[in-house]
Amino acid sequence: MDLYEYQAKDLFAAHGVPVLPGKTVDTAEAAEAAAAELGTAVVVKAQVKTGGRGKAGGVKLAESPAEAKEKATAILGLDIKGHTVHQVLVTTASDIAEEYYFSFLLDRSNRTFLAMCSAEGGMEIEQLAVERPDALARIPIDAIAGVDKAKADEIVAAGKIPAVVAEQAADVIVKLWETFVAEDATLVEVNPLVRDPEDKVIALDGKVTLDENAGFRHPAHAELVDERTENALEAKAKAKGLNYVKLDGGTVGIIGNGAGLVMSTLDVVAYAGEKHGGQKPANFLDIGGGASAQVMADGLDVILGDPDVKSVFVNVFGGITACDAVANGIVEALKILGDGATKPLVVRLDGNNVVEGRQILADANHPLVTVVGTMDDAADKAAELAAAV
Ligand code: GDP
Ligand code: MN
Repeated sequence: MDLYEYQAKDLFAAHGVPVLPGKTVDTAEAAEAAAAELGTAVVVKAQVKTGGRGKAGGVKLAESPAEAKEKATAILGLDIKGHTVHQVLVTTASDIAEEYYFSFLLDRSNRTFLAMCSAEGGMEIEQLAVERPDALARIPIDAIAGVDKAKADEIVAAGKIPAVVAEQAADVIVKLWETFVAEDATLVEVNPLVRDPEDKVIALDGKVTLDENAGFRHPAHAELVDERTENALEAKAKAKGLNYVKLDGGTVGIIGNGAGLVMSTLDVVAYAGEKHGGQKPANFLDIGGGASAQVMADGLDVILGDPDVKSVFVNVFGGITACDAVANGIVEALKILGDGATKPLVVRLDGNNVVEGRQILADANHPLVTVVGTMDDAADKAAELAAAV
């Protein structure tokens, strides 16, 4: 889960990372009041879960409360890369001597964590990473050893942070590592980390991604969820305990039992879809081992609720839950859904009690269901049906 800047900076503050005071509001009048309360020049900042707000006109300086109101009026409701601005952070403005870049992230390809640091931070960091990669230091972090002061010193030196603020920057980096570990984050980014004219180091921006798989350890993180930005179907699936991920640009809904089978189903459908005008999987949905009628109905309900879905591929390998139980589950699920089931289903069953399972589906003779013998043929059929709509 990605956090808003203000949420990220609240976490930073809780772990001792220096940030400036501020208040998050959703009206221009409240922005004016917040600026008056702070009693300083302020920066009014769009709170959206995407970068590049500065360039999109979502970050504006205001010298007075009246000006803060004016800037908030301009920013609230803005569309920044498809994200509507519902809230602005009104925060004390800082004079900036220099802007640095810092992040900790999960480096999956190298199976480690990574620190990235540069004395040349700010809004052009993507360009810097491409054009002068040497100016952006990348230091692997051992998960067990973590980041102590010595490691932080090494990162600061590699990033060429000036000596005058090196100690402070290293301190901040140790605290950001504490934040990263304590909150179970997969990303902690500060851009810019600034040096102000008094040589104080401050986190002016913050980006944090939390690992939702660790959510059970952090009851407090539930409050950070913003329903407005949640995918409605993902939220519905989560509430029903389903493992569902919406994929962009696809038309074939996928249900399978077991993450490995579902993953390979995605590949097979994408491959088969090439022959049918580029049909692609619309989602990942693993119903797990116990494919009861209710779980099947919940899964189908979620997938059929996705307007992008034109056909559904149910791919089940009967193991502990045998094919006849799954077939009964499908038949019952279609009864539960009734008129809610509107799109063609292609079912491929194999494994334990496959003959019985196929017989149950044949006997039910549901007009939306096509049973296909192999995974490849079923993927082809599902893609063909999706293309025909
Ligand atoms: P982003 O564009 O979404 O990354 O938003 P940032 O929070 O990083 O803000 C963009 C830019 O606005 C920063 O790189 C700064 O140059 C500038 N900025 C942000 N806060 C302040 C501030 O308090 N004072 C000044 N002078 N500039 C700021
Ligand atoms: Mn930034």
